[in-house]
Amino acid sequence: MFVGHFALGLAGKRLAPALSLGTLFMAAQFLDLLWPTFLLLGMEEVQVAPGITPVTHLDFVSYPYSHSLAAALGWAVLFGGIAWWWRRRLGSSLLLGGLVLSHWLLDWASHRPDLPLDFTSATRVGLGLWYSLPATLTVELLLFLAGAWIYSRATLAQDRVGRYGFWGLLVFLLAAYLGAVLGPPPPSAAMLGWGGQSTWVLVLWGYWVDRHRHPLRA
Ligand SMILES: [Zn+2]
Repeated sequence: MFVGHFALGLAGKRLAPALSLGTLFMAAQFLDLLWPTFLLLGMEEVQVAPGITPVTHLDFVSYPYSHSLAAALGWAVLFGGIAWWWRRRLGSSLLLGGLVLSHWLLDWASHRPDLPLDFTSATRVGLGLWYSLPATLTVELLLFLAGAWIYSRATLAQDRVGRYGFWGLLVFLLAAYLGAVLGPPPPSAAMLGWGGQSTWVLVLWGYWVDRHRHPLRA
């Protein structure tokens, strides 16, 4: 899943107006922010396997530190714990921890049974939404539209950056998603470690846009 994770980040703004969209994106995509770095460090492994599912051409050979349920729970507690230490706001800390965990749940719905439950990777799970391209697009685009709508109703643009930067972000996310899903497989697994770092740009984009929009209820 890709834009579905961002959708939950966008929707989170309504529950915690004081949190920046950048922080919400970071939480919702935290496992996918760690994954490319773990690939580069040689701790996790992915291979390009054209046609392995109609949606993705990636075989997630091993990724227990970023994407096992045990790791996701640990990262959720760590993320929520740091947020609590930082701001002492229980609601938003719980929301951020919940968003980190939501990533695993959405991936569980989408992936083939390749998500490990623990660090041994002995048991792997996944409901396999990705086996159907139309079902994946329907679910993910509906989530994305809902998230974008909720964020746009929960905030008001203060200036042009707030308005056009936000629309630009949505268009960019959609274009990147459709390009990845409908485009050719990536040329090599090696580039995924570096290419995946681009998700940080979307986090920064979230911070940038959010600074130019007022929350409508504090
Ligand atoms: Zn993921």
